Amino acid sequence: MVLRAAGRPLEPADLDDPVAGDGQILVRVSACGVCRTDLHIADGELTEPKLPLVPGHQIVGTVVADGQRFSAGERIGIPWLGETCGRCRYCLSGRENLCDAPVFTGYDRDGGYAELVVAVEAFAFPLPAAFSDIDAAPLLCAGLIGYRALRMTGAAERLGLYGFGAAAHIVCQVARGQGRRVFAFTRADDDGAQRLARQLGAEWAGDSRGPAPEELDAAILFAPVGEHVPAALRATAKGGTVVCAGIHMSDIPSFPYELLWGERSVRSVANLTRGDGEEFLALAPTVPVRTTVTEYPLERANEALADLRGGRVNGSAVLSIQ
Ligand SMILES: [Zn+2]
Ligand SMILES: [Zn+2]
Repeated sequence: MVLRAAGRPLEPADLDDPVAGDGQILVRVSACGVCRTDLHIADGELTEPKLPLVPGHQIVGTVVADGQRFSAGERIGIPWLGETCGRCRYCLSGRENLCDAPVFTGYDRDGGYAELVVAVEAFAFPLPAAFSDIDAAPLLCAGLIGYRALRMTGAAERLGLYGFGAAAHIVCQVARGQGRRVFAFTRADDDGAQRLARQLGAEWAGDSRGPAPEELDAAILFAPVGEHVPAALRATAKGGTVVCAGIHMSDIPSFPYELLWGERSVRSVANLTRGDGEEFLALAPTVPVRTTVTEYPLERANEALADLRGGRVNGSAVLSIQ
């Protein structure tokens, strides 16, 4: 499924089989998670994709031919961070997520809304056996980046999650497993998300525009809504952190300094490191994380994106590829 221009639906296309270059492997895709980032690309809010583009960066598939690291037949996962330069000050200081010259899967390089994809072996992950292909797909971005965002909250006990979709439904389970208390902030009328949040251990789920039920120690914003930043600061105790986990957000309205005072901080989380991936994929089966997935066949990718845009997906949307 190909994006030819922002703002246009994806089109089914027959492309030449991709060819693995040096350090790359060819992978037959079985499942690909649909991420809000894909929506930001399709809608033109992220402005520099390669075009035409095969989107998709939560890829589960089987290696077609032996590489240096993986053998034919092995199941692997391919995430958003497709490759880094290995030479910039960020790569050289353990912060490859901030690389100056990164290659992102399904943005700079064709991704997993397809039957075949190539990936740089060093940036792919073996996947825990406890997850089916479909269930594993959301771990690869929603899970990984959600986990990185959770780490940025330190030891916060009372955790607010703003937006309860693919990432939050995984983070909620990890946070509960760590003994934290979780409060889920959703659209007022989103009964499905609120119900899922309670099922997964949130002790409260309610309207993100209303007051928090009690003071929070940290908040993670998954919804791309700038108004949530001052709202979350207002809900957060002294010393608390508000983490913005999305790649794109509407403008943040100005707010009185008093909301930041008291050593509160606002920060973003960008991309992932391979270390995040290894750590989270080892942790997920021990929690154990269970993903809630709505499955769509590849050719219905536009419907999956429309459902995500309209807030109609409970948990994660995943494309299944035959
Ligand atoms: Zn770099
Ligand atoms: Zn993503």
